[in-house]
Amino acid sequence: MIEIYHLYQQYNDEMIALRDINLVIDRGEFVFIVGASGAGKSTLLKLFLREVKPSRGSIKIFGRDLVRLRNREIPYLRRNIGMVFQDFRLLQDRNVYENVAFSMRVTGVSVREIRKRVPLTLELVGLKDKVFKRPDELSGGEQQRVCLARAIINRPAMVIADEPTGNLDPVTAMDILNLLQEINIRGTTVIVATHARELVDRLQKRVIVLDQGRIISDQERGVYLNAR
Ligand code: ADP
Repeated sequence: MIEIYHLYQQYNDEMIALRDINLVIDRGEFVFIVGASGAGKSTLLKLFLREVKPSRGSIKIFGRDLVRLRNREIPYLRRNIGMVFQDFRLLQDRNVYENVAFSMRVTGVSVREIRKRVPLTLELVGLKDKVFKRPDELSGGEQQRVCLARAIINRPAMVIADEPTGNLDPVTAMDILNLLQEINIRGTTVIVATHARELVDRLQKRVIVLDQGRIISDQERGVYLNAR
């Protein structure tokens, strides 16, 4: 699903954000990407979404070469990737239903399909009773559940979460990670960039550790351990 070989990302003369990254992520995997602030996590996620183009090396996602990808092909790539952010990024003046439905409307699916799928997805993330609430009427954990619903509503092959638990207390954070696990069990590849050491250790998933732009550890059922 993701194949990266000898990838370098350089933003300017002195700053090399990623160095010689070699990485294969298969369909259906659950992967944590950890490392200190500045280690290169966000840069790696931006490469997956083709928000930046690699300076050197190769990166393929869904079999597509992102170095050669044409600009008009980028929306297709991004439609197959659901994003979850630390700061939720919900539409504040719309209710839960609208926030999730909005992501479907932009892809041009039928009203009938939206009416069918939004309630099912909200049920999956445990928000059946909050459908008509606005984001400011929800707790942080509930807002992040809306984001999860929004990320999966178009049935992407992959969900990428960038510090999804950064604004949540530990118990709520675990709930969100459990939901991500459930989404993964249903067949979606899940990639989570995080600082949440305890949660990473508890989940016993594959852990890729970045340090100053390099992968210094990549273990199945790994722990946060080496990351500073
Ligand atoms: P992380 O997400 O692990 O905190 P980042 O990928 O954001 O790490 O950053 C990696 C390095 O690249 C940092 O040193 C950061 O300052 C630098 N960097 C990130 N984005 C840019 C940019 N747009 N221009 C220049 N340098 C950047």
